[in-house]
Amino acid sequence: MEGLVMKSTGSWYIVRTEDGEMYRCRLRGKIKLKDLKVSNPIAVGDLVEFELEEAGESTGAIHHIAERENYIIRKSTHKTAHSHIIAANIDRALLVVTLVSPRTSFGFIDRFLVTAEAYDIPVTLIYNKSDLYDPETAQYQNQILKMYDQIGYSGIICSTVSGQGISEIKELLAGHKTLFSGHSGVGKSTLINQLSPELELKTSVISDYSDKGKHTTTYAEMFELAPDTYIIDTPGIKELGLVDIPKEELSYFFPEMRERLNQCKYYNCLHINEPGCAVLKDLKAGKISLTRYESYRSIMDETDNRR
Ligand code: GDP
Ligand code: ZN
Repeated sequence: MEGLVMKSTGSWYIVRTEDGEMYRCRLRGKIKLKDLKVSNPIAVGDLVEFELEEAGESTGAIHHIAERENYIIRKSTHKTAHSHIIAANIDRALLVVTLVSPRTSFGFIDRFLVTAEAYDIPVTLIYNKSDLYDPETAQYQNQILKMYDQIGYSGIICSTVSGQGISEIKELLAGHKTLFSGHSGVGKSTLINQLSPELELKTSVISDYSDKGKHTTTYAEMFELAPDTYIIDTPGIKELGLVDIPKEELSYFFPEMRERLNQCKYYNCLHINEPGCAVLKDLKAGKISLTRYESYRSIMDETDNRR
């Protein structure tokens, strides 16, 4: 049988087959994983093959994991501990941010975007709480939206209070597996509840299967919003682990810098103070955003400090 992993507790996996049945599965034997040092061999979003342990039972043994299109890892902060896979086969990530109450920093947004670039996952920025904007903020919001849109990160302005943007978000999700992320307080839970009023019910069905207590807060969970439409919520995960990118390669993960790379005089230009740097030239000309450039420098400094 084949199915989609909806939930993982580390030892048990809730697998959903195409006909909508849920099975509680464990991993049979050792599955070979290509040099991945992770604590969980199977993650939410994985497509797996399994066999029923006994005919008529709803428990199964997984014997195969389909090759992943992509996956997101959360790096362990302890050197000795293994990282773990948050989710696999994600079509898009939505980063919920707010310009007010509380204001999400550009540093946080840009780190997330760099990480998503590294995993090759498209991102849409969801600017929530637009009901709180004064005219000045509304204008500022439009500038920010345009700035990110121009470099490839589309945006939707929304409010769970006024309902602005909600139907647009639903359209974006339809037929896909979407990861939701965001700082706490931005309204992610409220938004997810609005996207599917029936979700709470489904959540409880799934949790009944799971091992009580253990790990549940650190593992991501996938929910079906509509047929073929899944969202992955990442409880307790404030920030995806930033992948370790050598500073020489960092500008590949900034689309606006990546597209200017062969315009710089030196092929190994770091865009700091080199003569003939196309990035610095366009930064001065206002064609590259200063906040994006600051994030670039700040991530680079961190990389330096880690070495
Ligand atoms: P989470 O931590 O991101 O899951 O945030 P919550 O969904 O718990 O929301 C945090 C707070 O923001 C709650 O008090 C919500 O009622 C509030 N909130 C959520 N969305 C909106 C919105 O669009 N406008 C306003 N004004 N408040 C919102
Ligand atoms: Zn340069």
